[in-house]
Amino acid sequence: MGIAEDIKHALKLAKKTDNTELQQKLKYIQAEVADLLKQLKNKEKAMARLRAALSSQENFIFKDSAYYLTDEKRRIKNGPFCRQCLENEQIKSLLVQVDSPIQCRIKCPTCNLTFDSYQLWDYLNERK
Ligand SMILES: [Zn+2]
Repeated sequence: MGIAEDIKHALKLAKKTDNTELQQKLKYIQAEVADLLKQLKNKEKAMARLRAALSSQENFIFKDSAYYLTDEKRRIKNGPFCRQCLENEQIKSLLVQVDSPIQCRIKCPTCNLTFDSYQLWDYLNERK
């Protein structure tokens, strides 16, 4: 039985008594525990993201305003990934070309980061 269920059970028992102070106290504890469990869950998620980032970090290179994944011989094998998404959210979001009169506009479909780069535009063109 988890702690949330234990408290629920204790609250049920307390309601059978006339001790309102005890009931209030248990309700307070119930809210506190719910909050702590939520925080713990968020921390676990953040840890998982950081671990994923760390395990692949050494294989990333930063070039022309974007990240690329490389193999052991530092050859590019995937990318370009949005720098903002990778640095802030540890998400690998592939950058795309934007149709615009300026033939160098690059955009991230995840966070909508938009910038101009001839190098990236050419790189994406070559891979088409
Ligand atoms: Zn992004």
